[in-house]
Amino acid sequence: MAVDAPEMTGEALRAQTIEWLREALPADWIEAIDADDNAAWSKLRAGLDYGEWCTRFGNSGYATPTWPKEYGAGLSLSPVEAKHVNEVLNHYKVPRPFNIIGIGMGGPTLITWGSEEQKTKLLPGLATNQEIWCQLFSEPSAGSDVAGLSTRAVRDGDEWIVSGQKVWTTLAHIARWGMLVARTDPDVPKHEGLTYFVLDMQAPGVDVRPLVQITGDAEFNEVFMEDVRIPDSMRVGPEGEGWRVAVTTLMNERVALSGAGSLSGDSVGGSAVERLLARHTGIADPRMRQRLAQVYIDGKLIRWNNQRAADRRKRGAEAGPEGSITKLMQAEYNQRLQKLAIDLEGAGGMAWEGAGLMGTGDGNPAWVSTDSDSERDIARGFLRAQANTIEGGTSNIMRNILGERVLGLPKEPDNSRDLPWKDVPRST
Ligand SMILES: Cc1cc2nc3c(=O)[nH]c(=O)nc-3n(C[C@H](O)[C@H](O)[C@H](O)COP(=O)(O)OP(=O)(O)OC[C@H]3O[C@@H](n4cnc5c(N)ncnc54)[C@H](O)[C@@H]3O)c2cc1C
Repeated sequence: MAVDAPEMTGEALRAQTIEWLREALPADWIEAIDADDNAAWSKLRAGLDYGEWCTRFGNSGYATPTWPKEYGAGLSLSPVEAKHVNEVLNHYKVPRPFNIIGIGMGGPTLITWGSEEQKTKLLPGLATNQEIWCQLFSEPSAGSDVAGLSTRAVRDGDEWIVSGQKVWTTLAHIARWGMLVARTDPDVPKHEGLTYFVLDMQAPGVDVRPLVQITGDAEFNEVFMEDVRIPDSMRVGPEGEGWRVAVTTLMNERVALSGAGSLSGDSVGGSAVERLLARHTGIADPRMRQRLAQVYIDGKLIRWNNQRAADRRKRGAEAGPEGSITKLMQAEYNQRLQKLAIDLEGAGGMAWEGAGLMGTGDGNPAWVSTDSDSERDIARGFLRAQANTIEGGTSNIMRNILGERVLGLPKEPDNSRDLPWKDVPRST
């Protein structure tokens, strides 16, 4: 079933979403949630075939409701309409695809900059979770200053030949496609000589090596590319305009990481404070009560700021620098929240019975399996949250963006900005 009526009310959209869920989810799922029967719901959730569900969900359009319907992976809803759908999906604890980089960043970038052929070919696989995407931006010498990157792409007829190294590439070990920014002209200033591609991660010459992080998971990787061939049909946007395309990806990344419908497995749950309260009923310590009240307030502020940004997008604007406000707030908020969760846990947050911290072992990121509130997951959440103020741009960089692009302060000095990239001093 598709959402066809061009101007449906929020109520009608909600009703239509519930009707679809009733048909698509296992019998009694909706009833279990309506009856607040967590045990019944948990049993149904455990029996659900996640891969099969993601395919059905993606094909229905409900997984990516704002994407254009004509590519077979969306409902063409406005952000405000989609909010009604998403609220229903959240309420009924609908499992979401973990393709967060692809859905949160790759899809919106393709929708803005991609060719018709690219959208038709790539959007459905993204929405159904069948084709996982990764983001090949950061390099060992280009993280915050990503425009200074060195990976080279040289044109050879209808193809490009790419060589270089990326790092911290989340999900690259299971990704089918990668959003790649490479240098195509070293003779012009750094922002002007970049081009954006979609890289086939299975192409000859791509070598992915996992990196183990503090949680014991290996969510991210080093990616080496040696004479990898990319057809020109997989170039996204014009040659030399890669920075503008990358900014679209980065703006959407900040939205995805800001808690606005974030799929991140870092937070203690959608209604974090309620879950903490349920776990630690009747907290007597006034300092803990104060911290709980603070995270409750902070969570509300982030939600309202996200709402403001969504309203701006509703008026037709692309994701803009205001995403940096909530990216910054969400990263620091989640670290406070996770610290509180582990402090409330006491000794149980440091040592527990059963499995250690190591990931799921099936190549999927550990957040896929972190529905529970076990001590292990709380410890893991605390450790994972340390990355929040680095990934997707550090908090320092978010403050720079806010200073310059929201408050209108002077740009920070950058001596290399106007030099041809090849003349910028760098360590080799
Ligand atoms: C969990 C995780 C997942 C990631 N996933 C991906 C991914 O999938 N794809 C990808 O491309 N990248 C990914 N990254 C990389 C991430 O984007 C970079 O780590 C981040 O942009 C910082 O770059 P850097 O590590 O090179 O640090 P640097 O840029 O070297 O920064 C070091 C320190 O200097 C500060 N600093 C640097 N420049 C400035 C400045 N101009 N003003 C003020 N302070 C400054 C920084 O804030 C930081 O404290 C991931 C990182 C993490 C932690």
